[in-house]
Amino acid sequence: MKALSAGATIGILGGGQLGRMMANAAAQLGFDVSIYCPEHDCPAARVASAHALGAYTDVEALLDWAEGCDVVTYEFENVPVEAAEALIAAGISVRPGAQPLEVSQDRLVEKNFLQSCGIATADFAQINGPADIEAPLERFGGQGILKTRRDGYDGKGQARLASGDDFEAAHKALSGAPCILEAMVPFEREVSVIIARDAVGDTLCFDLPRNEHVNGILKRSVVPSGLSDEVTKRAEAAAGALAEAMNYIGVLALEFFVLEDGTLLANEFAPRVHNSGHWTPEACATGQFEQHIRAVAGWPLGPVTRYHDVEMLNLLGEEALVPPDALAADGVLTLYGKREAKPGRKMGHLVRRRS
Ligand code: AMP
Repeated sequence: MKALSAGATIGILGGGQLGRMMANAAAQLGFDVSIYCPEHDCPAARVASAHALGAYTDVEALLDWAEGCDVVTYEFENVPVEAAEALIAAGISVRPGAQPLEVSQDRLVEKNFLQSCGIATADFAQINGPADIEAPLERFGGQGILKTRRDGYDGKGQARLASGDDFEAAHKALSGAPCILEAMVPFEREVSVIIARDAVGDTLCFDLPRNEHVNGILKRSVVPSGLSDEVTKRAEAAAGALAEAMNYIGVLALEFFVLEDGTLLANEFAPRVHNSGHWTPEACATGQFEQHIRAVAGWPLGPVTRYHDVEMLNLLGEEALVPPDALAADGVLTLYGKREAKPGRKMGHLVRRRS
């Protein structure tokens, strides 16, 4: 695919806040954006130049939509692999491709793939039924987390387990779905690498954020992370190896647990822009949304120079209903335009300068 010129149309599969911020960044670079998603009135469609309403499984509608796009990307990892494959088979450029979806949608496949790239993860075991739990849980020291292989996000589809718990009830509470059991990691902090890889294979990483989760949901990201240069370089090298292995084009985020001794264990990756990178547009020469658009358009990456220390706070549920003036008094406010503030729902974020 040739590099796109301003005026070309970028198609985005998915209509959430990530698509909305990608669409705004694309518009700033002179592109038109067309959103494809199954929801009416979604956050991304309301800032894009076009919106096609359709199911991700409706290949005919997808192909119809994609005819008007010069490149197609996605803003969430649960776009069916078949949708991306159908577009690719029809000759449409899909960046970053179908493989990152296939790998990241299933925690078991993902963990094995990370390890095949030489990236260490927490110990894990495949769980098909409650009888599979006891042996690995004992091997992991009697503490673990049961996670559904698919469709878990923001702490959903997970249960903490200890020896002697009712494994049958725990697995039933996860709808008896295929799972993995992970060893509980005694991490000292969590960080993520947000890496961009362009169409000629050049990569750049943003400074690593340290991430704080509450109930499995990201609450705050702080930069700098406080990690040594040596550990930071190892984390960046791992993200580079992962992106390379998938011949990735775009932005991806690789999340790590960091142990006291500097050991890095990868938790998961997202084949897209990431919540822990929401501070980049305000604090860096190029933000992650622009960086992703540059990469998928075949442009060179922009510089990731960071101008100041920064923190990003997620506004969850009703936290975003405070008058915007009060919220933005000491930071830059972004609201996603969601119609309903359900508990725990990501409604917006605040970026604060720290120095
Ligand atoms: P996940 O949905 O896998 O990203 O998990 C959400 C959050 O739960 C992580 O960011 C951690 O804070 C916590 N968590 C997940 N897996 C583990 C683990 N194996 N050990 C300790 N904490 C974990």
